[in-house]
Amino acid sequence: MSNGPYGQIACRCGTVSLLVCGSPLGCGRDVGDEPVTFWPLDAIQVGGGADELAISPDGRGGDSWVCGRCDERLLYAHDEAGLAVLVGDPEDAGDTASALTLALQRRLEALGYRVLPR
Ligand SMILES: [Zn+2]
Repeated sequence: MSNGPYGQIACRCGTVSLLVCGSPLGCGRDVGDEPVTFWPLDAIQVGGGADELAISPDGRGGDSWVCGRCDERLLYAHDEAGLAVLVGDPEDAGDTASALTLALQRRLEALGYRVLPR
């Protein structure tokens, strides 16, 4: 990987990879208390395995992006809010400026996420 502004996320089997650009909007916890980071949806690009990427509604107003081979969920996309939710801590959590508006925070909380204060 380069030292550029892109981070790469791959599923367990390595088929699907996503490129993440820029910085997260904030951090939180999902319904299962796993750490998640919130990103602008347009910061996410499919880096590889687009053919195997299965995008399906998750029943909570978002789409689940799942690898069709290993069934690992890579992210939740909330189109309407323009947000992507990635599982895991950001590598550069120290640089995470909370750029979530109150409206977006409320929306995430309505979806079951907990937004962590800075
Ligand atoms: Zn996979």
